[in-house]
Amino acid sequence: MIRIKTEKQIDGIRKSCKMLSAMYRELIPQIKPGIQTIDIDKWVTDWIIKAGGRPVFLGYTIKKKPFPASICISINEEVIHGIPSKRRIHEGDLVSLDCGIELAGYISDQAVSIEAGKVSKPVHDLNAVTMECLYRGIEAVKAGDRLLQVSRAVENHAKKMKYGIVEEYCGHGTGLELHEDPQVPNYPHGPNPRMNNGMVFAIEPMINMGGADIEVLDDEWTVVTADGQVSAHWEHTVAVFNGRTEILTDPLESLIFL
Ligand code: MG
Ligand code: MG
Repeated sequence: MIRIKTEKQIDGIRKSCKMLSAMYRELIPQIKPGIQTIDIDKWVTDWIIKAGGRPVFLGYTIKKKPFPASICISINEEVIHGIPSKRRIHEGDLVSLDCGIELAGYISDQAVSIEAGKVSKPVHDLNAVTMECLYRGIEAVKAGDRLLQVSRAVENHAKKMKYGIVEEYCGHGTGLELHEDPQVPNYPHGPNPRMNNGMVFAIEPMINMGGADIEVLDDEWTVVTADGQVSAHWEHTVAVFNGRTEILTDPLESLIFL
């Protein structure tokens, strides 16, 4: 069931989104070679709690063990749901960050892929195109139109580069719970509801340099590409209301593509 939000609820979700993006603006400059991912997670947890929010990923569970951190950190061939650890970030890594905050009952969700130091040109191109896929998807959001035109816009852009599009994971309704209906796949597939006023959803292309296939590691969370090639991930939370589209999370690419 798709939950239609009131203007007051969208206002609450917007505040949560602005807090999340403010956290990222402070975090992104710290993503440099040498930092341990567990230290990133500690910093994020402290920041969110100090700001009066709740790290919504911490302890999150769907039919498996709870996620043990506030932020997913997925490096190189890791697609999503990477668990922070003693691992250090190295020069040339592509570091995908995904985080969510609950503020006064309202939930936000945003992901970015950050280039640690100087990455190879193919990795940079993958990252830039994945970010563009996100915005192609957002441009396709129109009140009253069908949702899968968003999926088609993402797919068309990724396909131009012959990248693999992850099929098993996708965007989703959000705002009152982390994952709500509808699913927002990155290729046209499944239910195709209209994008009505009051809908809030996350669009999140996960794009692989090689094939589309993925695997889940023994930690039950970390999703990796089956062929070991690099993957990128970008996400915004968007709202449709009063016949228009608003990106509730803030654009962060100017901090990443310097
Ligand atoms: Mg996310
Ligand atoms: Mg999401």
